[in-house]
Amino acid sequence: MTIDYRVCSGCGSIIPPGSVYHCVRLVIQGEQDVAPDAAPSEGPGDVLTRMETEGDWSRYAHDVHWERQAELCTHCRDLLRVVAEPFLITEA
Ligand SMILES: [Zn+2]
Repeated sequence: MTIDYRVCSGCGSIIPPGSVYHCVRLVIQGEQDVAPDAAPSEGPGDVLTRMETEGDWSRYAHDVHWERQAELCTHCRDLLRVVAEPFLITEA
């Protein structure tokens, strides 16, 4: 009889048969914006257009959509939540 082992994507430990593990999907979906300027010489759309034509646009356009899936042990799932927390905005 062969056991289908699960391995935690975070720490690499084998998740013991019969144990709970977590199927996690992380999605970062974002877009660029321009911070308000008290005395703007150009509008946000102009800034983005100028950056696209003159600058290294790939730096800004990179990873607008990023998605990964993982199987994690409970410890790594909890660790991921702690690491992600400062980046989250809770809507009221
Ligand atoms: Zn783990």
